[in-house]
Parts: sequence; structure tokens; C-alpha cells
Amino acid sequence: MNNQALIRKLNEEHSLELAEWEQLLSSYTKEDLDHAMKMAQEIAVAQFGKKIYFRGIIEFSNFCKNDCYYCGIRKSNKECSRYRLELEDILTCCVEGYKNGFRTFVLQGGEDGWFTDERMCEIVKQIKSKYPDCAVTLSLGERSFESYKALKEAGADRYLLRHETADEEHYRALHPEYQTLENRMRCLKDLKSLGYQSGCGIMVGTPGQTPKIIAKDMKFMEEFQPEMIGVGPFLPHKDTPFRGEKKGSVELTLFILALCRIMLPQVLLPSTTALGTAEADGRKQGVLAGCNVVMPNLSPLAVRKKYMLYDEKAGTDISAAEGIALLKNQMEEIGYEVVVGRGDFGKER
Ligand code: SAM
Repeated sequence: MNNQALIRKLNEEHSLELAEWEQLLSSYTKEDLDHAMKMAQEIAVAQFGKKIYFRGIIEFSNFCKNDCYYCGIRKSNKECSRYRLELEDILTCCVEGYKNGFRTFVLQGGEDGWFTDERMCEIVKQIKSKYPDCAVTLSLGERSFESYKALKEAGADRYLLRHETADEEHYRALHPEYQTLENRMRCLKDLKSLGYQSGCGIMVGTPGQTPKIIAKDMKFMEEFQPEMIGVGPFLPHKDTPFRGEKKGSVELTLFILALCRIMLPQVLLPSTTALGTAEADGRKQGVLAGCNVVMPNLSPLAVRKKYMLYDEKAGTDISAAEGIALLKNQMEEIGYEVVVGRGDFGKER
């Protein structure tokens, strides 16, 4: 089957064989990319209209016990100046976000032991009691089943945990020995079983990644049926072991985003900051490839430059309000409207 026939098959059956994924990812042309983006955009518009959900991301801690080779806040990076926001700071970010129409707050951080279940549950409870019409999304990395359960009971609605790669060997090449794919996958299963709207995903273009590996990721996502998918290009950070590596391809990222939309028409798919960093209009292109979510940064300006996952991260030198205005403009430029709403999976169409 040729590539465009495979894309049509994906649209009809929402599934491809592993070998078909590999063919598509290894031999796609510019025409195939255009074809997939057009189809993905039509699907997104049919699902959501020309509407984009905004999520306010609050990067509340850059302390991390992990040592992912690609990440600027890895524990071995001694150049990273560490900070953590406490409850009051986080609530201040929410005030700004709510005023600007955000109805989802995403709490993201490194794996910081200071944020015990007790502290984290208190933060979630406070946000939910002050903003009962808002969703809380957590992105705190790997925790125990009991911890995820307690956080869910405290009111958390969604959880983002990119699986990073579904290939064992590639996982090993990106992480130290004590971080395992098995545990990452266990976490994703736990999250889903607890009723979180769950998000997995990958970076595109990590060192050693091949079409065969991405094919496995697509197959995994097809089986896992996430409610959200996070996909952005890998971008090097100067103080990590991957400092000299090439950045991931924007084209391939757009192709994968489009294929995700075609595979899972209802999935909540952000046009990521990494995409907006790799190219100035990256986030617009993401929407044109089927994305329906954008996540402006609500973190206080004073800490933005400390949450540097990769070099030259977009939006670290403008205030939350300026960042929101910029993104709203970008969306309007391509004929999309930003909506106020929680934007839950399978609802509000
Ligand atoms: N600690 C949590 C976790 O592990 O899911 C959340 C924070 S972690 C920094 C969020 C995501 O940033 C990761 O899942 C990874 O895909 C992405 N990331 C880290 N370093 C990156 C880089 N150099 N380029 C692009 N994305 C990166």
C-alpha cells in the first residue's frame, strides 16, 4: 500500500500494523505530510470547531531526583538554580490564569520529594475548592499507585506522563539504569485504572530514535488509548550529556501530531512549547496539523528561566499576560478562537 493509502486506512480503522507504521514514518514525502495535515485538521475542526483550549501551566518545582540525559533540570545539572513554589505562590498563578479565562491548571514539576502526598493533595484541594469549575492536571512524574490514588481523591482530574519511548533499548539510552520503562508503563496503567484522563507521549528526534522506534510508540498509543498526547521535538540543553546532539525535526513532529489526530480523533493534543521554540510559528503549525490545545506559561517571571528543559525555551522572558496575548494572537492569525472551558476529553463539542 502506498503512504497515502496507509493514511486513509488509519482514518478508517484507527489502527495500522507495526510494519505499516514503520513504512509511513520512514518513507513519507512532503505530499504525504500535507495530506496527513489536511486530514488531521479537518478531523480536529469536525471534533472541536475552530476552537483551541488553553491550559495554564504552573512549573512549581525544578528540583528533580531523576537524571534523564536530555533534560535541563536533571539532578546532575549543577548549573541549574533550584526553586520551588509553595501553596500561596501557586494560588497566585491561578488568580492570573482564571482572570484570563483558563479553566484548567497544569501543575508540572521535577520529581521533588519535598512535595509529599500530603503537601500535593493540599495544593490540589485548595485549587479545587477555590475554582470548582476548573480542572487540575498533574505532571509530577512517577509515583506510587497509592500516591496517584490520594491525588485523585483530592480532586485531580488529569495526569500527563509522557512514556518518552516504548522501546526498551532506546529508553536505556535516554535514562540512567535506575529509571525503567517498566515503571513508567506501570504508572500509566495505574493512572488510567484510577480514572484520570491520562496523557502519554514522546519527544521527536532524541538521539538514536529511528522510524522503527516511533512505530512502536504509535502502536503503544493505539493500544493505550490516551485521552491526551504530548509530542514535541527534542531540543538540546547545554548542560546535559545531549548538549551536542541535533534538535528534532519540526516536519516529523508535525507528521506524528497529524497521525495522532487521525488515529485518535477525540484526543486532546497540545501544540507544545518545544514546537514553538524550534520555530517561531511552530505552535500555529501544530494547530494546522490537528492540535487543539495550547499551554501558556503561568509561572512567575522570576522562576521562568530556571525551568529550562532545553536551550532558548520560548516565553521565558515575557509575563503570563503577555504570553497569553501572544498565543491568542497567533491562534487568531490562523482563524482559530481561544475558548473558556475545561475542555474535557469527549465533552464540550
Ligand atoms: N517530571 C515530570 C515527568 O517526568 O513527566 C514532568 C516534567 S518533565 C521535565 C516534562 C517533559 O519535558 C518530559 O516528559 C520530556 O518529554 C520533556 N523534555 C525534557 N527535556 C526535554 C528536551 N531537552 N527537549 C524537549 N523536551 C524535553
